[in-house]
Amino acid sequence: MKELDQLRQWIAESDNIVFFGGAGVSTESGIPDFRSVDGLYNQQYDYPPETIISHSFYKRNPEEFYRFYKNKMIFQGAEPNAAHKALAKLEAQGKLKAVITQNIDGLHQAAGSREVLELHGSIHRNYCTRCGEFYSLDAILEQEGVPHCQCGGIIKPDVVLYEEGLDQKTMETAVSYIRHADVLIIGGTSLTVYPAVGLIHYYQGKKLVLINKSVTPLDNQADLVVSGKIGEIFSRVVEL
Ligand code: NAD
Repeated sequence: MKELDQLRQWIAESDNIVFFGGAGVSTESGIPDFRSVDGLYNQQYDYPPETIISHSFYKRNPEEFYRFYKNKMIFQGAEPNAAHKALAKLEAQGKLKAVITQNIDGLHQAAGSREVLELHGSIHRNYCTRCGEFYSLDAILEQEGVPHCQCGGIIKPDVVLYEEGLDQKTMETAVSYIRHADVLIIGGTSLTVYPAVGLIHYYQGKKLVLINKSVTPLDNQADLVVSGKIGEIFSRVVEL
């Protein structure tokens, strides 16, 4: 496949690659995305997922929020797949500068990536909304229903819910990496969630690579489109 040869060549020639990814990076690890046909948005719940994982819903109905969150957004057995591993390897080789992710699952760090900018936070960090005490994922899963701190406050995951703002420092760091990147690889994202997606417009180079198993709104602006499953593609491009 000539697209894979092109991608291999750009990776071989660069020491300033930046990766921007989304939920599709983790589907091969068994974590469903939101917008594929078998994704969460195409399953039936009492409320649409955007509503349940919004700030106002969380405040109004924490029981229902946590029921959905624990059942549908936490996948404890999930392991990094070839895409996570390849990106970690490229960073270790000094070729990749940063992974910028919309994912909250922590799989990039589990694969060994160090510079991971989590635009939407992480399920692995949880805080008491009253006293600020930190809690691990295990600690909140051990409690039935809405997890509470010893002080009585509700524990909230450090995950950016709909209606909440993104961390400014993380955004600025991501802009800087993208602005200076030689190769920008965008993978496994529907490119529909703002403001995260707005970041990619800071890219100034001529090697914008899009990897997705379906069509995205940015396909016609990319310098290289590689269609297929991202784990399979990375396993053919980076020696693991
Ligand atoms: P999305 O669900 O909107 O889109 C996923 C995209 O990935 C689709 O375009 C789909 O075609 C593609 N895709 C799915 N599997 C793929 C694969 N194996 N190879 C290549 N492409 C694949 O996801 P999004 O754009 O990241 O936006 C959804 C939001 O949901 C994000 O903000 C994210 O925080 C959150 N989310 C995170 C996780 C996670 O942490 N793993 C899971 C679900 C949703």
